[in-house]
Parts: sequence; C-alpha cells; structure tokens
Amino acid sequence: MRTCLLIVFLILCGCNSHPEDPVVIQGMTMGTNYSITLGIQSELSIEEIQGEIDTLLESINQQMSTYIEDSELSIINQSNSHEWLEISPELFKVISSALEISQLTGGAFDITVGNLVNLWGFGPDDTHSIMPDDESIESAMRASGYLNIELQTQPYAIKKLNSDIYLDLSGIAKGYAVDRVSEYLDEKYLSSYLVDIGGEIRTKGEKRNEQPWRIGIEKPLAKTREVLRIVTLVNEAMATSGDYRNFFVKNGIHYSHTIDPRTGYPIRYNLLSITVLDQSAMVADALATALLVMGPEGSITFAENNEIPAYLIYSDGNLMIERFTSQFIPHINE
Ligand code: ADP
Ligand code: MG
Repeated sequence: MRTCLLIVFLILCGCNSHPEDPVVIQGMTMGTNYSITLGIQSELSIEEIQGEIDTLLESINQQMSTYIEDSELSIINQSNSHEWLEISPELFKVISSALEISQLTGGAFDITVGNLVNLWGFGPDDTHSIMPDDESIESAMRASGYLNIELQTQPYAIKKLNSDIYLDLSGIAKGYAVDRVSEYLDEKYLSSYLVDIGGEIRTKGEKRNEQPWRIGIEKPLAKTREVLRIVTLVNEAMATSGDYRNFFVKNGIHYSHTIDPRTGYPIRYNLLSITVLDQSAMVADALATALLVMGPEGSITFAENNEIPAYLIYSDGNLMIERFTSQFIPHINE
C-alpha cells in the first residue's frame, strides 16, 4: 500500500499575493514534485530558467535513475563485468559521496541495497506486499555491501567486485539534484532562492522582505495540517526521511521502504521522521536515510557524536516525542 505524504513542508510566506511576492517555478522530477522559489528578480525570463532546470533534471535522471532502463546507472546494474566501467563525473561524484557516507555510518546508508529494495517490492517493478522468503533475502544480502564496489579517477570508472551488485541512488539523488539546481541558480547570480525536490530543500539568502527562509514541519500522522516546528535555514540544506511515506502493511506489520542493509529487512522502528541539516542537500539526504536505519537511540547518539544538526520525531504508545541534537536547536524558530 502506498501512502500519501504525511510529512509536508510549508514554505511560509505572506498570505496576500503582491507583485513583490517570490516567483515560484514548479514541475515534476524523479517521481515527485519540485518547486523553486526565487526571492529576487532575474534578468532571465522564468520560462528560460524553468527550461534550463528541466533539462538539467532530465539529464541527472538519465544518469542516476533505476526507473529508466537505459540510464547510465541501469546499464551498470545490467552489466555482468568485473572490469572497470567508465562513468560520468556526475555519477562518480554521487557514488563516491555515497561510499564516504557508508563508511561514516557503518553501512547504515548503502547504495548497494538495490537487490534488497527490489526484493521487498520498493524498486522500479513496484511489487510490494509480496513477502520475500528467507532464502531470497539471504541471496540478496550476498549480492550487496558497499565494499563490493570500487571507484577510480582518470578516467572516472567503477568496478563491481560482485557482478550481481545492484546500485540504488534513490536515497541520495534527489539531494544531489537540489545541489545542482542551486549551483545553476548561483551561476545565474540569483542570490535568493529556496529549492525543494520532494522535501529535500536548500536555501540561499533571504526572502524579498529580508526575512530568512522558514520551513514548517507538520505534525506527522496528524489528520489536521498542524505545523509542529518552524525551522530557519540560512544558506543551507535540509532533508527529511519519513517512515510514513512509502510502506506496505501485511498481517498488521508495517514494512518501510528503508532497508537496514545489515539485516536485509525493512526497518521496524517507531520513528516517524528525521530531519537533517547540512551545507549540501546530497549529504543531508543520505544522512537522513542513515539515521532512520539507526533508530531513535542510535541516531541521536551518532548525530551528537558527529555534530550533525538532527531532529527526530518518534512515537511511544500514544505519545509523540521530539528529540533534537544541540546543533539543531539554534535553527528552531518556535
Ligand atoms: P525518504 O522517502 O524516507 O526521504 P529517501 O527517498 O531519501 O527516503 O530514500 C529512500 C530510498 O532509498 C528507498 O526507496 C530505497 O530505494 C533506498 N534505500 C532504502 N534503504 C536504504 C539504505 N539503507 N541506504 C541507502 N538507500 C536506501
Ligand atoms: Mg535520503
């Protein structure tokens, strides 16, 4: 069963429309919505900016999507070769960052979970609600593990030490795309913006009224759209991973689309949402997924030890509990 978004971000701006209101560009990419809010006028027309951003996003998708059969990533996934396979600098950057985050998080974030993601029905074939048997989980586990891939530069290339490895960049590519769109806006000298792709956000500068960008985080699970916290972002990125966005229920058990690479099973925590801040949306995106895997206790300890601004919401019976790391507290607006 797919659920709709229960964690929604509000871009808080004035209620009455005014010629000086921010300009919003919206569209679809990577199976989700994107929206770009510009706080200042541009020399370029909005149509021109949107056209260039759409082209950029399409090219990222053509490199990194497992949903596109002839994407650069899919071709690597289909290859049985143990030799070096040349890759684009963009794919190199995302895969090498993903490997660094795997190392940092002790494998909680791992892009080689692809076979497990597909087995549990959260991949391109979308078969969820079919329970895999233990044998298939074990065999998918054998064809996973970030130590099974190697990278090299000059030329940029990847080697699969186990040719069955299947890479899945869904936990990091949206964040990477947010960074690329932000860099594009920087190149166009647009010094005030908020970029949002499916809840992964990055901001620069201030809004037109010289107010910082503020993001509302709604109460997860609430039927009413109640803002729980307002987070202020100044030239930084924010990512949220939520267990309630994409899951299925079988025999009363909730199976998340986030897989614990160390067990091969979907995570089974009472964590409702995790929000992470970083300079890079790509890093924030991957860290949010990693913290979700670590669970309520492990994630907060890890984030404190590594000075990561993180905010989590989990349920304890009927109670909803919030926890922040000390680095997150200065960002809370109210
Ligand atoms: P959320 O929707 O919770 O924000 P993301 O979209 O960032 O999560 O990433 C979830 C996707 O990442 C999954 O659908 C799956 O394709 C992939 N994935 C699942 N578990 C992991 C993991 N442990 N490490 C890396 N990627 C994962
Ligand atoms: Mg993620």
